[in-house]
Amino acid sequence: MSKEMINISLANPRGFCAGVERAILIVEKTLEKYGAPIYVHHEVVHNKFVIKGLKEKGVIFVESLKEIPKSSHVIFSAHGVSKAVVKESDKFNLISIDATCPLVTKVHREVNKLSNDKYTIIMIGHKGHPEVEGTMGQIEQNSLTSQIFLVESIEDVNKLKVSNPNKLSYVSQTTLSIDDTKKIIDALIVKYPLIVGPKSNDICYATQNRQEAVKRMIGKHDLVFVVGSKNSSNSNRLLDMVKDKDIDAVLIDDMTQFQSKWLKNKKNIGITAGASAPEVLVQDLIHEIKKITKVSISEIEGIQETTIFKLPKI
Ligand code: SF4
Repeated sequence: MSKEMINISLANPRGFCAGVERAILIVEKTLEKYGAPIYVHHEVVHNKFVIKGLKEKGVIFVESLKEIPKSSHVIFSAHGVSKAVVKESDKFNLISIDATCPLVTKVHREVNKLSNDKYTIIMIGHKGHPEVEGTMGQIEQNSLTSQIFLVESIEDVNKLKVSNPNKLSYVSQTTLSIDDTKKIIDALIVKYPLIVGPKSNDICYATQNRQEAVKRMIGKHDLVFVVGSKNSSNSNRLLDMVKDKDIDAVLIDDMTQFQSKWLKNKKNIGITAGASAPEVLVQDLIHEIKKITKVSISEIEGIQETTIFKLPKI
């Protein structure tokens, strides 16, 4: 063990958000009530540890509803689903339970209202992310009232061509970088001055609070760990924020990946966790570090989150 003391400071808030807690609870309560197996469309939240635990309890994760036997229970993940998936579930006589985060549902409502009002919609988000597919899928293919386009960057805004720039609106994925999204919205406003957007942006409170907490860490640490899975959008945005400041950063969600060389010459380490990463993984990481060196641990003060979402009928 090294004689050097390493200071570890923990970001606040970090880890589970209200939408993730609700989605996991919905799966657990469904299992409790109906017994295994229970099917979930896509990973209910993007965390390897959580998914492994649920699989062990009898949850089967599928990417296509065709994989599910008729009349089974299916849970839609926290990321939300398209209208086509809801229709398909009815077609296959599945009993659906919706674990979509209410803050994603709010964006779905915005899209539906904009479509009814005959707006063309620009979605700011990451191609292929299930939340983006679900939100864009609120506009059905061949819709006569509206079209929805995806932009991921300012370059995409520059390339964008819309037929009616006077009836244009935007929405965004809930887990994006606040700063990058603002730059894309600014570029949209410059190109399309009449574009309309949500009253407050669509990036959720949990994403914003975790990004603000990391901003408070930057400059005080020579290494930041982000506990979260590779496919977790909000965890990756936390990682990007640190790396953009040329500070060493590691995304980790499985402590078997831990490498002691990461700690070489480091005195001040920050730890945060994405909204889908449980606190137990943060404590596991601290445990790994303690095996190598002495540590002093402190919590950085931050916003206290009190949001709780009601469960649907199960
Ligand atoms: S990160 Fe935000 S949108 Fe996603 S589940 Fe959590 S609260 Fe909901």
